[in-house]
Amino acid sequence: MTTLALISDLHSNLEAVEAVLRRIDSLGVQEIACLGDVVGYGADPLPVTKLVMQRCKWTIQGNHDWGLFHELDDFNPLAREALFYTRAQLRPSLFRIGRRAAWEFLRTLPDRMQDQGCLFCHGSPRDPVMEYVLKSDGFLEPDKMHQIFAMLDRPCFVGHTHWPGVHRPDYRFTQATDDHREFQLDGPCVVNVGSVGQPRDGDPRASFAVLDRNRVEIHRVPYDFRRTQAKILAAGLHPALAERLARGK
Ligand code: ZN
Repeated sequence: MTTLALISDLHSNLEAVEAVLRRIDSLGVQEIACLGDVVGYGADPLPVTKLVMQRCKWTIQGNHDWGLFHELDDFNPLAREALFYTRAQLRPSLFRIGRRAAWEFLRTLPDRMQDQGCLFCHGSPRDPVMEYVLKSDGFLEPDKMHQIFAMLDRPCFVGHTHWPGVHRPDYRFTQATDDHREFQLDGPCVVNVGSVGQPRDGDPRASFAVLDRNRVEIHRVPYDFRRTQAKILAAGLHPALAERLARGK
């Protein structure tokens, strides 16, 4: 068993990814894996994809990675617009053959993985790329949680909602906070590692997790989001995508 850092929902945010990788290196964590949404929303899809290719032992597909190669009818307008930008940045051509490896990497990502006795997917074990396991599902969607937990005999790690925390078999969700960021994993549970590149839990710091045997710790890392915001605006992406990074929403 080695310690495994789990990053998710990077969303082309280079400054957040670099800050998280520095923290992972300073912690001496041996391996890194990525739970998807490498791209989408942000201004730096190519450098972020290249870093993921270099640093992660495996990466699984998120809905935005999937959206690069499919129809975007189900995406909201901001996400769709950002994916058109992302395609333009990544699509290889005769004069841009340096992009081919990143394009093929994103095109051929698996939709789930098993490692260290755990399951990993972007969304949910029931629908690994698209379905959200929301923090309110224990109250509002008990049948859905029942079906999800019926599929689990071990911990399952996800991203997708950009809210770090743990769903227990009693369907209760415990949000990860500075006061409560370590969780013991005994049997089935759904662990959300949060988002590196676009946190939505009201905390603008990048989120990632470290799995060490049956213990997981959620880490938060400040980064220079003003630089990321300036790049999003300079790229012509929607200002809301920049503005939300300051609020972590
Ligand atoms: Zn995402």
